[in-house]
Amino acid sequence: TFKALVVESGDPYTTRLRELSLDELPPGEVLVKVAYSSLNYKDGLAITGAGKVIRSFPLVPGVDFAGVVVESASPDYRPGDEVVLTGWGVGERHWGGLSQMARVKAEWLVPKPQGLSLHQTMGIGTAGFTAMLCVMTLEEHGLRPDGREVLVTGATGGVGSIAVAVLARLGYRVVASTGRLQERPYLESLGATEILERSVLTAPARPLESERFAAAVDTVGGAVLAGVLPRIAYGGSVAACGNAGGARLETTVFPFILRGVSLLGVDSVMCPRERRLRAWERLAHDLPLNLLEASVRTVDLAAVPELAQQILAGQVRGRVVVDLNA
Ligand code: NAP
Repeated sequence: TFKALVVESGDPYTTRLRELSLDELPPGEVLVKVAYSSLNYKDGLAITGAGKVIRSFPLVPGVDFAGVVVESASPDYRPGDEVVLTGWGVGERHWGGLSQMARVKAEWLVPKPQGLSLHQTMGIGTAGFTAMLCVMTLEEHGLRPDGREVLVTGATGGVGSIAVAVLARLGYRVVASTGRLQERPYLESLGATEILERSVLTAPARPLESERFAAAVDTVGGAVLAGVLPRIAYGGSVAACGNAGGARLETTVFPFILRGVSLLGVDSVMCPRERRLRAWERLAHDLPLNLLEASVRTVDLAAVPELAQQILAGQVRGRVVVDLNA
């Protein structure tokens, strides 16, 4: 038997640490001994029931994991291979990574990127992977380091922290927007050159404010994103990946039609395989590992339900790795 977190339906949901046997795992080609999972905003939604993320009960949550292949019916993987999984509905529709064992489709896995440990891959996790997809998306729309500022919102969060560190490493002047001004030293240590109080962005804005930012990574949505768009410079773009601050967007068309600003959506869950492999390669190359370590805290499975509440309350800084053998 092995240990897993199991969420059961009800009002509210119940989450228990349970002993499961291998024959209870769902079908799949590859059986993985999970070393690490991580805590993402979506895991908070799933575990607490605050968002209707889970599609069938009971469910083992955890939208990502890294571990070692134990059995494989796929020619692509052999026992002993180190693998990483993010997305594909794992931890939503399919049993996920907050478990010592997981059985999944081979096509959902990627080989552990060279240059990263299993622990580091989950220090990055879905959040960091998404941060890199945002950076790649902005680059594909022409962003280059040219001395102008790039904005990151929700900067002390998981996606935000990694986005700040990567952009700073790539040579951008990074402005970090946060509701937690006490985290200024942390954000500066990641490479932010300036801290912008969240309330500046959520205050009523004119349809067009002065053209400050060449681009932005927005992890917050809602009123924050509405405050970002009028401040993007001519021809600039915003990579929107999150809704921690709200899903509704009230804005005007003027940034789009008068400044040619682009609002670019970023999804990590169904991201095609080639792009996944490229994003992981980029992370291994462009994320300073000492900064990653400074953003990561490691906990055991029993700590997860409490942290799930905290991440929704905006109280988790950086990234949380879950050690399945702790
Ligand atoms: P996280 O660690 O909780 O980061 C979210 C950050 O947003 C918080 O640290 C906080 O930053 C800010 N925030 C939280 N609540 C807020 C509120 N009510 N109003 C304004 N700002 C608030 O979560 P994460 O795992 O990095 O995920 C961030 C967002 O990206 C989530 O919405 C998540 O669902 C989304 N996401 C999307 C994808 C995708 O595929 N599109 C993938 C991963 C994550 P400050 O305190 O610094 O302001």
